[in-house]
Amino acid sequence: MTDNNDNNPFRIAQQQISVCADILGLDASAREVLLRPMREFHVNFPVRMDDGNIKVFEGYRVQYNDARGPTKGGIRFHPEETIDTVRALAAWMTWKCSLLDLPLGGGKGGVVCNPKELSQPELERISRAYIKAIGQFISPTKDIPAPDVYTNPQIMAWMVDEYSAIVGNNQFGVITGKPLPLGGSPGRADATARGGMFTLREAAREIGLDLGKATMAIQGYGNAGCYAASLARSMFGSKIVAVCDSRGAVGCKDGICVDTLTKHKQDTLSVANCKGTENVNEQSLMEMDVDVLVLAALEGVLTGKNADRVKAKILVELANGPTTPEADDILYRKGIHVIPDFLCNAGGVTVSYFEMVQNAYMYYWDEKEVHEKLDTRMTRAYHEVLETSKRFKINMRQAAYVVAVERVVEAMKLRGWI
Ligand code: GLU
Repeated sequence: MTDNNDNNPFRIAQQQISVCADILGLDASAREVLLRPMREFHVNFPVRMDDGNIKVFEGYRVQYNDARGPTKGGIRFHPEETIDTVRALAAWMTWKCSLLDLPLGGGKGGVVCNPKELSQPELERISRAYIKAIGQFISPTKDIPAPDVYTNPQIMAWMVDEYSAIVGNNQFGVITGKPLPLGGSPGRADATARGGMFTLREAAREIGLDLGKATMAIQGYGNAGCYAASLARSMFGSKIVAVCDSRGAVGCKDGICVDTLTKHKQDTLSVANCKGTENVNEQSLMEMDVDVLVLAALEGVLTGKNADRVKAKILVELANGPTTPEADDILYRKGIHVIPDFLCNAGGVTVSYFEMVQNAYMYYWDEKEVHEKLDTRMTRAYHEVLETSKRFKINMRQAAYVVAVERVVEAMKLRGWI
C-alpha cells in the first residue's frame, strides 16, 4: 500500500482522471466532480479482544460517485490501509461499474487491522462493529459492500447478519459475495479470475498468442491469483511456471501442479517450499521471460523503476492499481498488451451485480447461466476498450477510462449535476 508522495494511489487515480478529461475535452465542472469523492465516512469503533481488553479500530467507507446508481465496492481488512488508498479504490470502482455498464456507482471500504493476527471471534466482532458504525450509510439501494483484500464470504455473512439485525429484517441484498445459503450467487467465488481469463482469451486472440502453449507467472496467490492459476490450466492448458505470495515465491520450468500448490497454501498459509517447485526470487518473478504475467496482489508493484524489465507479452491486472502511470508509459512503448485493472478484474463486481439482481427477485440462477452472462459482458467490455484504444491511439488503460468516464459524465449531465 504505497502511500509516499510518488505512489500515493489517490494521486495516481486523479492523474488518470485528468489525462482522460483531456482526451475527452471535459469542462472544468465535470473535472471538479470527477476528481473528488462525493461522500466519505471515517469511523473509530471499539472491539473487545480475546484477552478482555478493548481496542479501538479505524475504518473508512468512501462513496465516490453515484451518478449511475448506488455505490458498490468491497471492504478491505489491511494493517496498512489508508484513506487515500480507499479513495483511489472507490474511484476505480466507479469506472469499473460504468465500463461493464452496470447500473451502479463506485465505493470502497477499509478497516485498519491485520487479520493474520486475529482470532476468528475477534474477526467476527470487528466485522459486526464496523457494520454497526457504517450501517446508517449503506443499504441495498444506497451502497452495497462486498469482499476484497483479506475479507471473505464468512465475513460477509457476519456483516449481513449484523445489518439485518439493525434494520429488523433480512436484507441479503445489502452485501454481495455472501455464502450460497445466505443469498450468494453461484459463480461469485471465482468470478474475478474467470472474468480476467475471458479478457485474456480475447487479448491472446488479438495478438495471436496460443494460450495452450503459453507460460504464465502469477504475482499473488489469494482468491484472484489462486483461481486464475486453476482456470488458466482448465480453460486454456497454459503452463504456470512461477507464483508468489506475501511470504515467498516458487517456480517450476515444467509447470507447477496447481492442485498441489493450492493445498500447500491452505495447509501452510504460503506458497513457499511447495513440493515439486523450487523457491525463486520474488522480485524477479515480474521480470521472468513468460508469455503472460498476472498481477493479483496489491497496488503499486509495477513502477517506473521495474516496468522496463517486464518481458511478458500480455499483462493481466487482476489486482486493483498494480501499475503506476510511469510504468504504463514504459509498457505501452514496449508494446506489451495490458489488460487494465478495472476491465480485467471486473468479473467480481459483475457477478456481485448478478447477486443483487437474484436477491431482489429471490430467484436464483445456475452456475452455467452466470458464467455465460459474465462472458458476454467481459468480452463486450474488452472489445469496447480495444476499439477505443485503436481509434484514439491511446493505451488500453486510457481507453478504458474514456469509455467509463464518458458514461458517468453523461449520467451527471442528465441529472443536471454539471
Ligand atoms: N472487491 C471487488 C473489486 O474490487 C469486488 C467488488 C464488488 O463485488 O462489489 O472489484
